[in-house]
Amino acid sequence: MASRSGSRRAGNADVPSARLFLWLCSLSALVWCALSFPRPLPGTLELAVAFLGLALYSTLGVLWPQSGMYGLAHAHGKAGSRRIALTFDDGPHPVTTRAVLDILRAYDARATFFVLGHKVEAHPEIVREIRAAGHALGVHGFEHEHLFSLRSSSYVLGQIERTQRAIAAACGATPTLFRPPIGFASPFTFRGAERAGVKIIAWSVRSLDGLRSASAARVAERVLRHLGDGAIVLLHDAAEHDDFTPASIAALPTILNALRERDYRAVTVDELLD
Ligand SMILES: [Zn+2]
Repeated sequence: MASRSGSRRAGNADVPSARLFLWLCSLSALVWCALSFPRPLPGTLELAVAFLGLALYSTLGVLWPQSGMYGLAHAHGKAGSRRIALTFDDGPHPVTTRAVLDILRAYDARATFFVLGHKVEAHPEIVREIRAAGHALGVHGFEHEHLFSLRSSSYVLGQIERTQRAIAAACGATPTLFRPPIGFASPFTFRGAERAGVKIIAWSVRSLDGLRSASAARVAERVLRHLGDGAIVLLHDAAEHDDFTPASIAALPTILNALRERDYRAVTVDELLD
């Protein structure tokens, strides 16, 4: 997948630059230690600075999975076909998800919903409505675990499969798209996703609509300012704890009107990456 953000990996020979740099840093540290032997090891301060630098850089790869440091996270599709993908996290919810579905229907737009397994079990009828309207479903974990990226690959696998089973019980589909809770992805997250046979989906445009204080005008402005051909846009159709209405719902008509004006078509993530 071509990428402006460094997640490019067309084949085994095309290693993302972020991962190459990590390998280079690790190799340099090993060579440094080897060359020091049998002389005294580098000073404590030098070692601490080197270790801290490597730790910070390694953490960046978790916080920004689009970098491709630990695996392939799809952040957007190919440019050139005037298509973008709107994605909605943290649902389903009987009121707010239905509001999103109504707006999408009015604009004949398609989207992808990354759902939480425990909410799927509570509202299976909403999952059926999402699918019946022609939208795609993806997995967002069973619970919304904030320390998900620190969990083992077996935990990740369990969360994905449990949510897939809930979705299958609701509507018969078994999604193969996965967006980790919070959006961070460690090597364990990538390994768990690989074991489950799902693709990790990141984003190229973040609306920051998941905060109670977010305003619809600012969400729309932020999305439209960064929107480009092939973009994957991160939005929410429900609050994590269902305790407020995400601002993106009020912002959605403005976003969809602008898409029409710019001659973009809103498609599912599967279609965008196909
Ligand atoms: Zn979420």
